[in-house]
Amino acid sequence: RVQSTLDVMTEGVLIISKEGNIVLSNRAFADRLGRSPADLMGRRAADFSWRDAEGDPVARDLPWERALTKGESFTGSILTLNHSKKERVILNLNGAPVLNGWGQPTGAIVTFEDVTELEEHRANLERALAELEKSRDEIRFQNEELSILARSDPLTGAANRRSFMEDVEPLLATARESGKDLSCIMVDIDHFKHINDTWGHQAGDEVIRGVADGLRTQLGDTGFVCRYGGEEFCVALPETTCTAASDLAERVRRHFDTPGFAAMPVTASFGVSSLADGATNLPALIDQADRALYFSKEHGRNRVARFDEIPLQP
Ligand code: GH3
Ligand code: MG
Ligand code: MG
Repeated sequence: RVQSTLDVMTEGVLIISKEGNIVLSNRAFADRLGRSPADLMGRRAADFSWRDAEGDPVARDLPWERALTKGESFTGSILTLNHSKKERVILNLNGAPVLNGWGQPTGAIVTFEDVTELEEHRANLERALAELEKSRDEIRFQNEELSILARSDPLTGAANRRSFMEDVEPLLATARESGKDLSCIMVDIDHFKHINDTWGHQAGDEVIRGVADGLRTQLGDTGFVCRYGGEEFCVALPETTCTAASDLAERVRRHFDTPGFAAMPVTASFGVSSLADGATNLPALIDQADRALYFSKEHGRNRVARFDEIPLQP
């Protein structure tokens, strides 16, 4: 009667003796192994190829052993078993000891709920989640790369004009609030067309790169360097007076005008302006530096001119 009652259940059921042998198996459990319940009678419950959730074989400390030795119930133990038809089944085990009149365990009753589909769904979800997280990280990384690319000039790696304006414009307000000066240097390579014509466009590119590197290394962290146009650079120097900026420009001018700086003689002209000259916005400050640069070009090139020292134009 017990057998036929248990056979109705969709969950597998085993009744195990104190020695660990199967006393009774219902049809659902036997079916999973492709056997009949009678075949399983007397076999050791531990002898099937039990594996844990990770697929590693488990031969001892099977969940029902706790019920048999300590008289403890257990719930939610996950084990897997090779199935007669399916690759494997994932089972959720619940169990309780069968106690004698003195409360001592004489066996255990264990139920096996097939959670294969549930577990596989969960594993698939976890995989999908991991994939999503991976692609989210990749997208974040690519966005960072894109933003760096969008902000810099591909030939020199220096800031492009747009990002320079975005970064420096707010520094003008900071300078005004703190009462500190801010200077601007415009740099233009001398007779660059001649360098291109004589040495070729690629050599010209190398010179532009060298000038960008020279500006960065000579100015260090103090300056914001931007490739303003073809062979023109613009530098912003926060907390720097026109005199200090002119000294820096002079140092850079000499660095370029040194044999070995490039494969051919290279010089550049410089124009310097500062907020003290009265500019109220960045384009006006750049315009003043540009006018000083024009003065340098007009007066022999390879020199530094300050906006506050050039004669006023009509
Ligand atoms: P100046 O001393 O008056 O500045 O003379 P210049 O020859 O340098 O005159 P200008 O500034 O008009 O010439 C700049 C040249 O730079 C023109 C252009 O062909 C060249 N150029 C602009 N961008 C690039 C670039 O990315 N690579 C190379 N190789 N040449 C460039
Ligand atoms: Mg030039
Ligand atoms: Mg130019």
